[in-house]
Amino acid sequence: MALDLYKYVASYDNFPEKGVTFRDISPLMENGEAYHEATDKIVRYARDKKVDLVVGPEARGFIVGCPVAYDLGIGFVPARKKGKLPGKVVGASYGLEYGKSSLYIHADAVKPGQRVLITDDLLATGGTIEATIELVEKLGGIVVGTAFIIEISELKGRDKIKDYDLLSLLQY
Ligand code: IMP
Repeated sequence: MALDLYKYVASYDNFPEKGVTFRDISPLMENGEAYHEATDKIVRYARDKKVDLVVGPEARGFIVGCPVAYDLGIGFVPARKKGKLPGKVVGASYGLEYGKSSLYIHADAVKPGQRVLITDDLLATGGTIEATIELVEKLGGIVVGTAFIIEISELKGRDKIKDYDLLSLLQY
């Protein structure tokens, strides 16, 4: 029987700032069955989309995307914060729910025409996913899907990327 994945999300009021409720997937990751089930759902979505490559932003995008890539036998590319990647990179900056940041990807990490799935733990305002999409497209990749464990619906991140297909497993 399918697990109720909502039971594996912890909520912290007033973190990291007053008025913000932080949704944490740590309990889901700590539970083998729950992590497996969430991953399987995203794997099925990726298979439908005929994905060639998974890209995920630092850091929890790795936790969601790597097991998906492993299961499908395809590659995973990390989009990292400033100063983390050596060699030639391309970058994109964006506004966060709380702050500003930028992400970088190796300049040869995505081949033109590759069908890319972008993963992250959570969609809030959509700034992070928008920047990651920009990076993939700068390199000629085709973003065929985006997948999140959690979507904070009231922040309307979905509207920012309405030209792209989106899977979220849990909505708040
Ligand atoms: P966005 O760019 O506003 O959509 O924020 C999403 C990014 O910030 C993701 O990479 C998340 O990991 C992180 N984030 C924002 N809010 C939360 C939260 O409540 N819990 C966990 N991560 C969050």
